[in-house]
Amino acid sequence: MKKIAFFPGSFDPFTKGHADIVERGLKLFDQIIIGIGTNTNKKRYFEIDRIDLEIKGTFKDDPRVTVVHYDDLTASVALKYGAQFILRGLRNTTDFEYENTISQVNRQLAKELETVFLITAPELAPISSTIVRELHKFGADISPYIPYKID
Ligand code: ADP
Repeated sequence: MKKIAFFPGSFDPFTKGHADIVERGLKLFDQIIIGIGTNTNKKRYFEIDRIDLEIKGTFKDDPRVTVVHYDDLTASVALKYGAQFILRGLRNTTDFEYENTISQVNRQLAKELETVFLITAPELAPISSTIVRELHKFGADISPYIPYKID
């Protein structure tokens, strides 16, 4: 059976840290579906269609990576797309506390879904979408942190 992982996130924006999780995940899974959550309560900084295009551009040579948008429970969407795994990255203990809770809840919702965590590469650990947004807002160069170009 094809091993399919659903990689959910806000990806506002998608960073080199996220790209690394996808690339490393491809060694474990046959297909990775990147799910951009479109939580209507949370106003995005970068337009979702722009980020969608940039992620697709980043992985244009790899048909194993696809991108979807969703506004629903992550576990339900993962199952809808035929995933057996949820993929997440762990940078530090703060991530761990949060991810631990979410994965327990997802387990309650769908026992058949296994959450798999990849520990961040040390050089990418300081990268967060929040910091990239902040840098961009004040006109700093964000190109070291994202795997594509944004002005
Ligand atoms: P969310 O809003 O759901 O936390 P994010 O877009 O911030 O979504 O992150 C999606 C996933 O990517 C999370 O599992 C997060 O821990 C992970 N992640 C974020 N930044 C990095 C990074 N620099 N290296 C590895 N994983 C990361």
